[in-house]
Amino acid sequence: MKITGEMLIGASAVRGADATLRAFDPARNADLEPAFGGGGAAEVARACELAEAAFDDYRRAPLETRAQFLESIADNIIALGDALIERAMAESALPKARLEGERARTVGQLRLFASLVREGRWLAATLDSAQPDRKPLPRSDLRLQKIPVGPVAVFGASNFPLAFSVAGGDTASAFAAGCPVIVKSHPAHLGTSELVGRAVQKAVADSGLPEGVFSLVVGAGNAIGEALVSHPAIAAVGFTGSRRGGLALVDIASKRPAPIPVYAEMSSVNPVFALPGALEAKGDTLAAAYIDSVTLGVGQFCTNPGLVIGLDGSDLDDFIDLAANAITKKETQTMLTAQIAAAYDSGITERNATSAHQIATGVKGKAASGALPALYRVSAEDFLAKPQLSEEIFGPTSVIVVCADEDEMISVARRLEGQLTATLLMEKDDVELARRLLPVLERKAGRILANGFPTGVEVSYAMVHGGPFPATSDSRSTSVGAMAIERFLRPVCYQDLPASLLPEALADDNPLSLWRLRDGELGPN
Ligand code: NAP
Repeated sequence: MKITGEMLIGASAVRGADATLRAFDPARNADLEPAFGGGGAAEVARACELAEAAFDDYRRAPLETRAQFLESIADNIIALGDALIERAMAESALPKARLEGERARTVGQLRLFASLVREGRWLAATLDSAQPDRKPLPRSDLRLQKIPVGPVAVFGASNFPLAFSVAGGDTASAFAAGCPVIVKSHPAHLGTSELVGRAVQKAVADSGLPEGVFSLVVGAGNAIGEALVSHPAIAAVGFTGSRRGGLALVDIASKRPAPIPVYAEMSSVNPVFALPGALEAKGDTLAAAYIDSVTLGVGQFCTNPGLVIGLDGSDLDDFIDLAANAITKKETQTMLTAQIAAAYDSGITERNATSAHQIATGVKGKAASGALPALYRVSAEDFLAKPQLSEEIFGPTSVIVVCADEDEMISVARRLEGQLTATLLMEKDDVELARRLLPVLERKAGRILANGFPTGVEVSYAMVHGGPFPATSDSRSTSVGAMAIERFLRPVCYQDLPASLLPEALADDNPLSLWRLRDGELGPN
């Protein structure tokens, strides 16, 4: 499939005339062909009108059609073959194996949502029978199901050009819910976005769905994203990126005449509590695994372990020495974009001006330019006094916080902002301290792990990739895993509706064979 530099507005390919954008190869420091035509408010309005027009037909199409549509997107992405991987490599400087893994995750995600759609529990079908003889007042017949909220705007992330982009988790979960989607292409991977966008566009046509189910808009600067979030047809927003970008969209969405929810995943340092028993038993292997996790993918993961918290003593000193030694062997590597590299460098410069002590850095590698991994040590006292030390620097860096005692460790935990993850490295004799930390960490993080590192997010039913602010703008949801569908649904109750008007999911004879809550009993009833 050829990349043309056009936007995909419904079934059409449209060349924007408002601006010219170019994709960039950060490893070669060179522009990529072709030029993209950037659009503006007019193209956003057309995409939104089509989405609004498509919404009722799409949400009312049989669930099997919706499930097959999701599977068809997955098949079409695979059919793009090496061209997709090669373009994503050129635009992101990410290695082939990583992008092939990300493609597998993306299609796996689409297929998971297809099976979720078929199974139908997300409809939350609930029936409370009428009680005409109830005293003192009779009860009506009440039936509830969840319906999609409406067209959804999606902003993909720079660091996952496939799994958190055009056909990533936000799009897959919105489609699964029954919402049309308009994606704003990330400027760091315009070509990858067009290829995947065309795969989605083809799936819409092949599935016989209305063209407005999907559009992909491209534009220079913030204006096109602002126009999208402001458009009255848009009912919700999915976003992954910077805290500043996420908050800007939350602000726009909340000031609309009809405010809408923005599900923004933004910033997390993913604290790791290295408890004393674990450091004593296996400090050496933990130190190596920690540095591997910090430098994986040039540290460009929202789940990067940016903070380790331990108790002062010889085992922590040994762990720090081993980690410092391990990081000196890690080479500089090219980051996703020049802007992200510049933000990393200025974050490191700012950190160097604090009381955090830089104990080791990586080495210059083959890459012409790149992020130099950097490890820091700071006392808990200084850490507690300097809130900026707990802020994310996106890249291969981490801070080790040395606590005088367990109480100080709990104080550090309490001081943390909201996080995507929190980790406990522990042995059996650490259980009492872990038990003290757990209630604090539950209030801070969306996922709590023991004896692992947080990079690597499974796409499954029980996954939570969310957390209190600033990890996300809405801690009640997740952007990865089956529960992500909940963001794009809302409940409707039908009171005393005649059978002829009831949705299929709520019909007496349960024609969809759903598990339903009927008069308080859950089952295929
Ligand atoms: P970003 O700058 O927030 O951009 C993400 C998307 O949102 C882009 O499409 C961008 O479009 C759009 N956008 C940003 N601000 C906007 C605004 N005010 N109005 C309208 N649209 C807006 O994020 P990024 O490019 O992915 O990476 C930059 C930084 O984000 C990184 O250095 C890192 O700190 C953070 N990041 C965090 C995560 C995470 O998962 N927590 C993931 C990736 C990145 P335009 O650029 O075209 O305006």
